[in-house]
Amino acid sequence: MNVCVYTLGCRLNQCESEGIADAFVSEGFSIVKDKEMAEIYIVNTCTVTSKAEQKARRMIRKFAQNGICVVTGCYAQLNADDIQALDKNIIVVPLSKKAHLLKLPKHINAALQSGMNLESSIKTFVDEDASVFDYAAASFSYHHRAYLKVQDGCDNNCAFCRVHIARGKAVSLDSDTVIERALDLEKQGFSEIMLTGVNLTMYDHENDGLGGLIERLLKALGPNVRLRLSSLEADHVDDRLLNTLKDPRMQPHFHIPVQSANDSVLKRVNRKYDKAHLIYIVNRLKEIKDDPFIAADIISGLPGEGDSEYKETYDFLKEYGFSQLHVFPFSPRPNTALYKAKDRVTEYIRDQRAKELRDLSNDLHTKYLERQLNKECEVVLQTRKGGKFSGVTGNYIDVVVEDTPPFAASGMLFKAKFISIDGDKPIVGIIQ
Ligand code: SF4
Repeated sequence: MNVCVYTLGCRLNQCESEGIADAFVSEGFSIVKDKEMAEIYIVNTCTVTSKAEQKARRMIRKFAQNGICVVTGCYAQLNADDIQALDKNIIVVPLSKKAHLLKLPKHINAALQSGMNLESSIKTFVDEDASVFDYAAASFSYHHRAYLKVQDGCDNNCAFCRVHIARGKAVSLDSDTVIERALDLEKQGFSEIMLTGVNLTMYDHENDGLGGLIERLLKALGPNVRLRLSSLEADHVDDRLLNTLKDPRMQPHFHIPVQSANDSVLKRVNRKYDKAHLIYIVNRLKEIKDDPFIAADIISGLPGEGDSEYKETYDFLKEYGFSQLHVFPFSPRPNTALYKAKDRVTEYIRDQRAKELRDLSNDLHTKYLERQLNKECEVVLQTRKGGKFSGVTGNYIDVVVEDTPPFAASGMLFKAKFISIDGDKPIVGIIQ
């Protein structure tokens, strides 16, 4: 049976979708692309921009004409009735049960064998209870890197954001269970674990934050497992957390949702940090790691962003060693404080700034790659195609891997060196 998993939005959504797709593969289903026909479609939606919601509606309508369309994610959580009304072939799964979808393939197989039809098998399953941390570490993994969700929800109330409304209050997986799941992944041979959450640095178990959790993980795990952080939200980054990054097992790749680097804009949109703190974090990251890959999320045209505020953000991103920008033009979202903001910039200026920021991102990325030439790195092998492995480096660059030894296999970790950055993908050669 064919299944299509279609994803919009953030890395957590991407990770969750990959986990769900993997669970279907393990149960004998075939994963197909969104242009192909499938019996089951899983749509993992996003509510960050109105464009993401429009696209979700369009795809859901299309998919529901071909098969059963299971819709989950932040948009589905906030507008379940609107989505349900699009077609009778739609089954909306609330966020509280999204992780439960990992068990759906097994359930479908058993239900079909007992004579139930596909639609009823999915409906009865969705009615069962579930938790946001249902992701069993082992099945929530792909490409030989594992994803370990340790946090969900957010207690902030950023004036542009609907995610905290959809996902609810911050919750954290207790640290004993995190350690247990991480050790299980190590036992299965994973060489990299990415810690994920909606607001990862808001992790808090019994008043111990992300720094404390990572200290425990580093103590528990052996020398061959690397840890990567899915995001680094500035407001909860403290010295304890930064100091854990000194361990060579912490990967030199960071993703900071910066949004703006102007204090008055940050205050206007209710972010809980200022430019000085951003500078402190970025400088410490560069001090601790050799030329880390630092990516930023940026919203162009936030209310209150005049020319000088924008210029301050642009200059900050250009000067402080970022390697890539993920640019989102501001769109006012229903039920947020900025929905009816009177100090909005025009769409023309917003889009102009988005374009400039994207051009800057291309420039920063090219320069970052150029600096990697002849540098040593670590690479985790992914899949083998045409006799060569693809791989992902510690600084999260997709590469082609050359000079792999005969015993090389997917998931293995090697020391390597960047030998070319010219083609479609940079090339690294194994040195150890
Ligand atoms: S930190 Fe702000 S933008 Fe991020 S999820 Fe929380 S409220 Fe939304």
